[in-house]
Formats: sequence, C-alpha cells, structure tokens
Amino acid sequence: MILVSACLAGICCKYNGGNNGIPLIKELVKQGKAILLCPEQLGGLPTPRLPAEIKGGSARDVLQGKASVVREDGADVTENFIRGAREVLKFCQEMGIRRAILKSKSPSCGKGLVYDGTFTGKLVEGNGVTAQLLIDDGIEVMTEEEFKKIC
Ligand code: SF4
Repeated sequence: MILVSACLAGICCKYNGGNNGIPLIKELVKQGKAILLCPEQLGGLPTPRLPAEIKGGSARDVLQGKASVVREDGADVTENFIRGAREVLKFCQEMGIRRAILKSKSPSCGKGLVYDGTFTGKLVEGNGVTAQLLIDDGIEVMTEEEFKKIC
C-alpha cells in the first residue's frame, strides 16, 4: 500500500479549494493500491485556507521547534502542520505503509524544493513538514513528478 497526497487523487483539499488530480494517482487509489491523506486537513486546518510557507529554517527545524510555518497574513500555523504530520506518520506506522507519493513544493508534502517563506514564488531546497517526518522514519517519499517519470 502506498500513501498519496489526497489532492493528487482529486480531493479538493488544496488551500484554494481545488485539487492537483493526476489520472495515474487516481488509478492507484481506484485499484486499492494507494490510500489518500491530507496532512493540513488532519492538522485541523479548514479548506479553503490561506496559503502557508515554512519560514526561518527547514522542515526539520520546524519539527524541532526552531522555525515556523506561517500563513500569508502572518498567522502562525506551525502547530497544525506538526499535528498533521504526526497523524500521517502514525497512520503509516499503524498500517505498515513504507512508500509515499506526495505533492511537490507543498510546505507539508513537498520533497526537494519548497517555497522560501516570502510568498514571492521563490523555491529553496528543502522538504515539507510531513515529508520530512516520513523521510526521517525511513519511509520512501517521491513527488508526483518523480512518479510520472518512472511510469
Ligand atoms: S497538504 Fe498535501 S495533500 Fe493536503 S492539499 Fe496540501 S499538498 Fe495536497
């Protein structure tokens, strides 16, 4: 069983109420090979919601209390992001899930590149908070872009 970001499976859980649905991912879910979760919703955030970015450090810094996740209006949503990430990790551990396909560039799900905290569209090296927690647990994480290349 593979974990997938819910928005990649067509669920409208994106910050703007939309989704990032990809037919290949939807097919995995349909065939019972993948299960979908949205860490931001699991962390208690509503949909739609204002966009958020990691600020002042990396996702690992966020998890260690040294950096934060802030909304576009300046509100601190770090606790929601950490709570959502922990819920996803707990679910993966309980279900024995060791692989995940997560949405690129998201402050929760991104792997390799995330926005830099200035809300200017600039990307920096790094992971989203949930992706980081899963990677640190040894779960194999790939983005939907990486997945498309191997299919
Ligand atoms: S938190 Fe992840 S699953 Fe939820 S909308 Fe953002 S990228 Fe998609």
